[in-house]
Amino acid sequence: MTAAQLDAQDELASFRDRFVIDDPDLIYLDGNSLGRMPKATQALLKQESEQDWGKDLVRGWSKWYGLPERIGAKIAQVIGGEADEVIVSDSTTVNLYKLVSASIQLQPGRTDVVTDDLNFPSDLYAISSAVGTNGSMNVVMSADKQSVCREEIEEALTDQTALLTLSHTSFKSGFVYDIAAITRLAHEQGIPVLWDLSHSVGAVPVGLKASGADMAVGCSYKYLNGGPGAPAFLYVRRELQDHLDSPIWGWFGQRDAFAFDLAYEPREGMKKFLVGTPPVLSLACIEPGVDMVLEAGMDRIRAKSIRQTEFLISLWESKLKPLGVTLNSPRDPNIRGSHVSFGHPEALRIDKALIEEMNVIPDFRAPDNLRFGVSPLYTTFQEIEEGVTRLEKVIGEKIYESFDSRKPEVT
Ligand SMILES: *Cc1c(COP(=O)(O)O)cnc(C)c1O
Repeated sequence: MTAAQLDAQDELASFRDRFVIDDPDLIYLDGNSLGRMPKATQALLKQESEQDWGKDLVRGWSKWYGLPERIGAKIAQVIGGEADEVIVSDSTTVNLYKLVSASIQLQPGRTDVVTDDLNFPSDLYAISSAVGTNGSMNVVMSADKQSVCREEIEEALTDQTALLTLSHTSFKSGFVYDIAAITRLAHEQGIPVLWDLSHSVGAVPVGLKASGADMAVGCSYKYLNGGPGAPAFLYVRRELQDHLDSPIWGWFGQRDAFAFDLAYEPREGMKKFLVGTPPVLSLACIEPGVDMVLEAGMDRIRAKSIRQTEFLISLWESKLKPLGVTLNSPRDPNIRGSHVSFGHPEALRIDKALIEEMNVIPDFRAPDNLRFGVSPLYTTFQEIEEGVTRLEKVIGEKIYESFDSRKPEVT
């Protein structure tokens, strides 16, 4: 089937019109890094500035104070949790630090945290700092640099392990763990599991509660389209909430913040994980994107995502593989998220050529990955095809050779 036919058959196609698309020629394949802006969010920002902050001023707080729970409850539906198990706060890295620290505190005698080298580096930094000098972070090394198998995780767990924490979908290869199987494996040894859902939420159904997972964190500005720097979320399964203490105490986590009591007493449930004043404008802007994901439904989003990454990989096979491009993501769609990594020794210069000369935005991930992210609410099949055609040209005609290999500060 042609790309145009696939688009014509796509039941989610109309969602694209609900995003701000300024340049129709731009092939945007980086929604897994920063999602596009929903038109509803643009309108909300206008309202925030003109009315909510502009006119209501401090009175706006009666509306803003409950936003972390209200939006958290909606994100819970996206990831398969209960409304009172998710709250929005801080960045993913900070939330991870809070939950890793809380988990270590929970288990006297157990000091170590197990993770893998597919995880996002910021997660490893946060884990290391939370582990401190009393324990160690044990990193399972992926043999093929793309995936890790169950046995490799099993071998790493010991009676010193306080926590297992992994990214559900790997930011580089797109590999997706079997969340229920890995959680079960750790639970058999009495070890809680904390998942980073940043590259899953809004793209890959998680089934968090059904998996038995203990805790999770994730990001709102990728497939949820919350906007640059929009705050992240935390999940703690209900039974565990009373046992975990946040390592950072602040007035938003205080039982009666406006009593201005000098002694700290945590709020109920997830609210104790709030710390200080949230970035209200960014926080509010998460909601329209989450609403759209709920309206489209995770099953339909996942089905389209698989059709699109399969389509992309079929184009790789016929057009890019003969040019020396490798597939650095799993071939099996059941263990692959919504982005595909291609390998080429000149990936950095190719990325620059695509962005600066071809009006295509993928991204480069060291050492040699070119990531093509598919965001089913607005990516079209024709866009994917055109992106591959332009990539083929950059490599085939060696257009990248006129770009230097200096790494920009941000890629
Ligand atoms: C994007 C991403 C993050 C982002 O962390 P911030 O602290 O919100 O910047 C963290 N972890 C993973 C796995 C990610 O993909």
